[in-house]
Amino acid sequence: MSKVLIIEDEVAIADLEKDYLELSGFEVEIENTGDAGLSRALQEDFDMVILDLMLPGMDGFEICRRIREVKNMPILMVSAKKDDIDKIRGLGLGADDYITKPFSPSELVARVKAHLARYERLIGSSAQENELIEIRGIKIDKTARRIWVHEEEKPFTTKEFDLLTFLAENPNRVFTKEELFREIWDMESIGDIATVTVHIKKIREKIEINTAKPQYIETIWGVGYRFKV
Ligand code: CA
Repeated sequence: MSKVLIIEDEVAIADLEKDYLELSGFEVEIENTGDAGLSRALQEDFDMVILDLMLPGMDGFEICRRIREVKNMPILMVSAKKDDIDKIRGLGLGADDYITKPFSPSELVARVKAHLARYERLIGSSAQENELIEIRGIKIDKTARRIWVHEEEKPFTTKEFDLLTFLAENPNRVFTKEELFREIWDMESIGDIATVTVHIKKIREKIEINTAKPQYIETIWGVGYRFKV
C-alpha cells in the first residue's frame, strides 16, 4: 500500500484529502506544520508528499527544496494562489505537480495515482538497468557485454571480456595464472596457462596507455596478476 504524507496547516482540508485518499486505498499521515512535515518526510518512508505552500514555520518552497536534496518521491504542491504556481515553476524546486485550492478531491486522487504510477514505472525500469562496473575510466557493461576505455568503446573477445571483468570485480586481489585459467576457461578446454598471459597482453593493449607500465592490470612477478584500484 502506498504511503502519502500530507503537510497542510488547514485541518479541515487535510482531513478531507486524507479521507479521499484512504477511500482510494492509500495509507495517509498528516502533519500540520512545516517543520514537523519536513522531518517526517525525510525520516520515514513515504511514497509521495502533498505539500501546502503556505505553512506556519518553514514554507512549502523550502520544504520542497530540502526534500529534493535527499529524496526522489513525487511532490504535489498545493497553493491557494495561482500566482504561486508560476513561482514554483520559476524556482525549479523539483516539485512534480501543482494544484490550486479549491480543488475537487477526486482530482487530487487522480493526480496522486498518476504520479505514483509514473514513479513505479521509473523505479521498475531502473531496476532493470544494465549491470555496470566503473573503475578509473574503464566502464564494463556486463549485461550488454561492452567495454569503454575513457569513453571510447573497444572490442573484446569473449574470453578477454570475461577475464577483464573477473579481475575488475575482484580488485586488488592477486590471482595466479592457474586460478585465472580455471576461472575463465572451462575444465574441458585444451590449453595451458600461457593462454592467460596472451589474453592479459591483448587486454592491456586495449586498456593501457603504456603497456610497459600498466596502470590497471599489474603483474606480480612469480605469482600472477591483480587489478589495481
Ligand atoms: Ca496553508
